[in-house]
Amino acid sequence: MTENCIFCKIIKGQIPCTKVYEDADVFVFLDINPINKGHTLVVPKHHSENLYTIPEKDLLACVKTCKKVAIALKEAVKAEGVNIGMNNDGAAGQAVFHSHFHVIPRFSHDGLKHWPGKKYEGKEAEEIAQKLKGSLL
Ligand code: 5GP
Ligand code: ZN
Repeated sequence: MTENCIFCKIIKGQIPCTKVYEDADVFVFLDINPINKGHTLVVPKHHSENLYTIPEKDLLACVKTCKKVAIALKEAVKAEGVNIGMNNDGAAGQAVFHSHFHVIPRFSHDGLKHWPGKKYEGKEAEEIAQKLKGSLL
């Protein structure tokens, strides 16, 4: 449903945004609630919901653009590092169901924490890897 999609409306110019780049395939603008200043969203112009359904052409265009934006952020806001993120499904934090990549400038002392790590028990890791291998065939 693209009619009610906030990012489709932004791409069409129906909702204002702080745009930084566009080409035939991608649209790039600043996140309205930045994790750090310069936090940028890279979105395909063609609507898709998330990673599971994005056409490979759009995925490639987005990833290439993320690289350009990451390098540009190092200069523009003197980022010391950059996180690229994509939330897929509500459980993973996806709030807007138009595929998008977060390009987040990072600084040594920005106060953000790396996500916590868990430990595997017994044969868990091997069992999960086996299931994954089966699904990836
Ligand atoms: P998600 O949680 O779906 O991965 O991320 C959605 C992102 O879109 C959030 O970081 C949020 O701040 C941003 N966002 C939501 N609505 C708007 C909007 O109207 N304009 C802009 N520029 N960003 C938005
Ligand atoms: Zn959309």
